[in-house]
Amino acid sequence: MQRNATTQHPIVLVHGLFGFDSIGSLDLFYGVKQALRSAGTQVFIPHLSATHSNEVRGQQLLAQVDRILAGTGTTKVNLVGHSQGALAARYAAAVTPERVASVTSVSGPNHGSELADCLRKALTPGHLPEQIAEAVATLFVEFLAFIAGTPKIPHNAIAALNALTTEGVADFNAKYPQGLPSTWGGNGQELVNGVRYFSWSGIVGNLRDEGRNALDPLHHFCRAFSRFFTREAEQNDGMVGRYSSHLGTVLRSDYPLDHLDTINQTAGLVRQGIDPVELYLAHAEHLKQIGL
Ligand code: CA
Repeated sequence: MQRNATTQHPIVLVHGLFGFDSIGSLDLFYGVKQALRSAGTQVFIPHLSATHSNEVRGQQLLAQVDRILAGTGTTKVNLVGHSQGALAARYAAAVTPERVASVTSVSGPNHGSELADCLRKALTPGHLPEQIAEAVATLFVEFLAFIAGTPKIPHNAIAALNALTTEGVADFNAKYPQGLPSTWGGNGQELVNGVRYFSWSGIVGNLRDEGRNALDPLHHFCRAFSRFFTREAEQNDGMVGRYSSHLGTVLRSDYPLDHLDTINQTAGLVRQGIDPVELYLAHAEHLKQIGL
């Protein structure tokens, strides 16, 4: 069936993941742009740098939103941010709500990332037992090597960690609280300053029904990272805790999707019975239905 997601305002997919805009040679939002365009949505994917500050990334996003508005002749955009991209989107909406119709957080560390907390400690001598510090740091280096071919932790990834820790995001939230839930695990206000806020995310889940995810190296990284969580043990996607991701109206936060499944990585290798691209399509259709 032909889908119709001809939203009034363009959708802007905002990447995160320590500033990477691709995994190897793959588009970060694998297959999402094509699916949305086939359904009639105008889609843009700006490139933000891997700078440590969510505000700086948010400013870069705002500059590109201005260009998109000028180029399309529309007045607002729908921002959909994955991972750290959600924080840039929140910043843009907080600063210029008149240019933003909606903010949707996909696996966003809206209350920080326990993985970032753990890595931060691992990289600061004396904060974790040496064995644990070495295990998590080594795993992270291997992960970065897989994503970007970088055989060591690049400086900008360490800087990005500071912006993603529970403490770092708490500072950010104090300045830009729009859409955050007032109780842990709850929903936030959907409509703030004329901007609608939504979120979805998943959890790594059990070993049953893994489908082709069993073949996905990124899934194995998420599963391994998941073990370093304590507050949201077993209730996380490998990089972000379930409740930490909550923003605005929570569409669902326990999809059987790890942190990179929600952008359909690696190259469509996900669990059985779930299609991450469909979530973007259905959400675009919803945005259309509510006049955005
Ligand atoms: Ca996967």
